[in-house]
Amino acid sequence: MTTLLAIHPHFPSLFAGNATPERIAGGGKWVEGPAYLPSHGCLVWSDIPNNRMLCWNEATGAVSDYRNPSRFANGHTLDWEGRLVSCEHGSRSVTRQEADGSTTTIASHWQGKRLNSPNDVVVARDGAIWFTDPTYGIDSDYEGYKADSEIGACHVYRVDPASGQCESALTDFVRPNGLAFNANETRLYVADTGRTHMTDGPKHIRVFNVGPGYALSGGAVFADCDVGLFDGFRLDALGRVWTSAGDGVHCYAPSGALLGKLLLPESAANLVFGGATGCDLFVCATSAVYRVRLAADWATSSASMNMAGTLKPV
Ligand code: MG
Repeated sequence: MTTLLAIHPHFPSLFAGNATPERIAGGGKWVEGPAYLPSHGCLVWSDIPNNRMLCWNEATGAVSDYRNPSRFANGHTLDWEGRLVSCEHGSRSVTRQEADGSTTTIASHWQGKRLNSPNDVVVARDGAIWFTDPTYGIDSDYEGYKADSEIGACHVYRVDPASGQCESALTDFVRPNGLAFNANETRLYVADTGRTHMTDGPKHIRVFNVGPGYALSGGAVFADCDVGLFDGFRLDALGRVWTSAGDGVHCYAPSGALLGKLLLPESAANLVFGGATGCDLFVCATSAVYRVRLAADWATSSASMNMAGTLKPV
């Protein structure tokens, strides 16, 4: 099966070899939130409906439990000290794993009301933790615990690194989902998967200009998904957007032009750059996790954007 659908003729050159996805783990119900931990040489991810997190050891290929139960964890990222920051549907909070193994709650409420079910998270260079808060973890008991929304809306939040205050940053989304900055943090991208809850609702990624003090402006649609939904995504060092979609991974130029697709046998939910060489793309796709080798000449710098634990901001 040809796995690459090239729109731009140079798209295949971003991959090593023939870009055949390697299935490194299976058996999940809905896998999400991959994070590569360079200090451990492993990939961790969530299997949300099974209420567990798994770990793939890069040296041995072994897959084991990382957290079980996981409080229905979803998206993860590393902060600038290499600590794992997690969105948890079950606790309706964003948490951080400390070096001693203990857990710190980063955010659980906004204006005195419980969050819905934090979904995906990113840490800015100033240490602020940005996350999205749709209702997927409280809509039913499948990915968390069914409950009403106390806030009554689905926002994007920023946790101030100095005060620890949880502030709303974007309030005009139906169901905000994946989010990511570009390398120099002049742009913030946020997916809206509102189509799940609204006929003709959004299934796109929006892009915001990031000004002084992380003030946001703009918010135009960057790309509209033509197969399924954009869920989680990452940017590479050159500003390309690599996003999950119903048929695999879509790659967009900073202009919003679709460069090509990496086709997978299952719907993709999220992805991350990483690996010991920094040249791998890991994709969480429904029941399985896939590894795709990237061309080394550009991928190493891209991976650094997802490995804050080893590379300080420049
Ligand atoms: Mg998500």
